[in-house]
Amino acid sequence: MTLKSILVATALVSTMAGAAMAQGTIGIAMPTKSSARWIADGENIQKQLQEAGYDTILQYAEDDIPNQVAQIENMITNGVDVLVIGAIDGTTLSNALENAYYADIDVIAYDRLIRDSEYVSYYATFDNFKVGVQQATTLVDGLKERFPDKETWNVELFGGSPDDNNAYFFYNGAMSILQPLIDEGKVKIVSGQMGMDQVGTLRWDPATAQARMDNILSAYYTNNEVQGVLSPYDGLSIGILSSLKGVGYGSGNLPMPIVTGQDAEIQSVKAIESGEQYSTIFKDTRELARVTIGMVEALLNDSEPEINDTTTYDNGVKVVPSYLLEPVPVTKANWEEVLIGGGYYTEDQIK
Ligand code: BGC
Repeated sequence: MTLKSILVATALVSTMAGAAMAQGTIGIAMPTKSSARWIADGENIQKQLQEAGYDTILQYAEDDIPNQVAQIENMITNGVDVLVIGAIDGTTLSNALENAYYADIDVIAYDRLIRDSEYVSYYATFDNFKVGVQQATTLVDGLKERFPDKETWNVELFGGSPDDNNAYFFYNGAMSILQPLIDEGKVKIVSGQMGMDQVGTLRWDPATAQARMDNILSAYYTNNEVQGVLSPYDGLSIGILSSLKGVGYGSGNLPMPIVTGQDAEIQSVKAIESGEQYSTIFKDTRELARVTIGMVEALLNDSEPEINDTTTYDNGVKVVPSYLLEPVPVTKANWEEVLIGGGYYTEDQIK
């Protein structure tokens, strides 16, 4: 060994000892910052990964599909060890995932299933069918509570983005509760608009939901009133509530319909506290981050992560081994206990 090589070797070892070597770099691709839930997701995963000794690259694509694909391709070029992807459109990432595979990078689908690719190792999410069941259950509870004397409740349905696999699970879960009530005439979908092809809301866009609610109200509710709206996401609920308020619901003798939601976003929890929105579904993103990191570690250490579902999530090519967390329904009756008691928000953030 020459003196130079000894010096270089010594220098390298001391650098390694000085700054603890990262265990690897994890690329985190998130869909958008337009919704608080995804900001919390990104922050929680990044924080927990860094605490576990990983370097992270976190990027948001502002609901622009080519942008997300480019971000993922860059992460691959930068040599990340694992990709954690919250897809915008779960059907557009097949090429990117193939490139990841050839670069020896494993992929975890985060919250939303990535479809049409064999190169998805694991899926970390919530029990999405149950989310829909809970949304419809709170809707029916609210209808009984606010409109106990109505023989038939007039209801309208909203679905999530048709390019998000979750949207079908939410809708189907909700319909498992609502369809029997529709069949027996207790619930009436006055517009007749049913099925994801008619009620889906592209990119989960609040303005799209608001415009559709405006149209429904002017076309079908000039001589009668709507008592309930199934909304699958707090952002859409905000649009739907503005539309309803615009024609006088929630004031005078026009009671606000029961409007559901999802994600327990701060603005919507405030609306639940004030009685405007009836319910939301809380999904603890800290837990989702924890489960995801378990998957990252298993992939890097060639071990088995915690999995509790190996049958539900067929992405068109394979059934992706999944971990499904429990969603929690939240109304005015329990938001403080669940969200403040559980340390997710502070009292000041809501009141
Ligand atoms: C998530 C929901 C969220 C929706 C809109 C879905 O994929 O599972 O929690 O409300 O996207 O961002």
